Amino acid sequence: MRKKIVAGNWKMNKTLQEGVALASELNDALKVETVKCDVVICVPATHIVSVVNSVSADKIGVGAQNSADKVSGAYTGEISAAMVKSTGAGYVILGHSERRAYYGETDAILKTKTDLALENGLTPIFCIGEVLEERQSEKHFDVVKSQIVNGLFHLSADDFKKVVLAYEPVWAIGTGVTASKEQAQEMHAFIRTVLAEKYGQDVAQEISILYGGSCNPKNAAELFANPDVDGGLIGGAALKVEDFMAIIKAW
Ligand code: PEP
Repeated sequence: MRKKIVAGNWKMNKTLQEGVALASELNDALKVETVKCDVVICVPATHIVSVVNSVSADKIGVGAQNSADKVSGAYTGEISAAMVKSTGAGYVILGHSERRAYYGETDAILKTKTDLALENGLTPIFCIGEVLEERQSEKHFDVVKSQIVNGLFHLSADDFKKVVLAYEPVWAIGTGVTASKEQAQEMHAFIRTVLAEKYGQDVAQEISILYGGSCNPKNAAELFANPDVDGGLIGGAALKVEDFMAIIKAW
């Protein structure tokens, strides 16, 4: 059985105090519920230690939203994978479309970031997805395949199995426009075929593939009902415990 995961991406939201309050409220909500998926929150780097200390590790995994493509040294402002790991975080989002678009993260950079995350025992939540024009010109399968091939296919099967994928059509992120359940399933099934060609069916069947892009309490259940959708990467709706819990309970 593949791991089911609902992961929140807080992006650049919440002060430290607000973030700790949000994480504690989520932790309290999870204490009184039996949930059927793993819950992860990827918080601003400044908040990780405090959030790790305010939640129960058996209820909530904590992650960063980025880590560096360098090991250490004179890289002002960067945070290495080893540093992220040393905070108590277990996950790191890599290749989010906002980082690809605004911070010039290429497949080559992401390849190195993934290697360093894995070497340091972090689980990468590796994001892939096409922009609107690519979907409209029917290049979405090629784009997603090339992001996977160029960013991840240098990994051994054993390392690849440690990665969580997140399919996030860029046109659906923060827009309120969600991929239909058919569009999500079609792409997730395609991704699994790509993985099977490289690593074989057994590995392909083991990888959790999350959907991200305006997932909310109203659409989560139908998206998660797809056989190849193993959960969600949630932006806006992860900032309110009520909404995030409703998505978690969609499993
Ligand atoms: C995201 O940024 O990963 C995301 C899915 O955002 P939203 O849920 O707000 O579309």
